[in-house]
Amino acid sequence: MPIAATLDELAKNIRDCTACPLHAGRIQAVPGDGDPSSELLFIGEGPGQKEDEQGHPFVGAAGKFLDELLASISKTRAQVFVTNVVKCRPPNNRDPEPSEITTCTDLYLWKQIDALQPKLIVTLGRHSMAIFLPPTLRISQVHGQPKRVRGRVVLPLYHPAAALYNGSMRQTVLYDFKKIPLVLRKLSTHE
Ligand code: URA
Repeated sequence: MPIAATLDELAKNIRDCTACPLHAGRIQAVPGDGDPSSELLFIGEGPGQKEDEQGHPFVGAAGKFLDELLASISKTRAQVFVTNVVKCRPPNNRDPEPSEITTCTDLYLWKQIDALQPKLIVTLGRHSMAIFLPPTLRISQVHGQPKRVRGRVVLPLYHPAAALYNGSMRQTVLYDFKKIPLVLRKLSTHE
């Protein structure tokens, strides 16, 4: 049986990766960071300009809102793990191509999840949701509803960047976020 890759090994491979065209336009890849023993894993879509410059996920305006959302459930960034579907910034922040998503998740994200063994995966935005849930589902129908998929529990949420400047979506994301501790508690009592 192959030995599972560690998070550090995966991060090194991600930084050196040239497996898809996105590597050509990056300043640096963004493997993800946080507490490797956290029960909570957040998955965004892909690095933006600030993340590409700094090498860490969610360091721009959406990241500030993510910090606020985490504070609303008494968590800090250091207590959770945060990564993205694709680890390199798509040019001009375009959507990642399906082939880029498949390449990056097959090489890295599924292995990161195996290494982290999170109790709950929170997807941020529709690209992240779409790697777990059927393509026929719309985020407007399923946000805030935990689903069991691939042997894991996934809570799809709107992307903080989409909610940033939209008052009602902001309230929805805050409301959905409050479900995280409830879902975690429920999962603990059912173990
Ligand atoms: N948006 C994302 O989806 N991920 C980041 O890391 C930053 C912004």
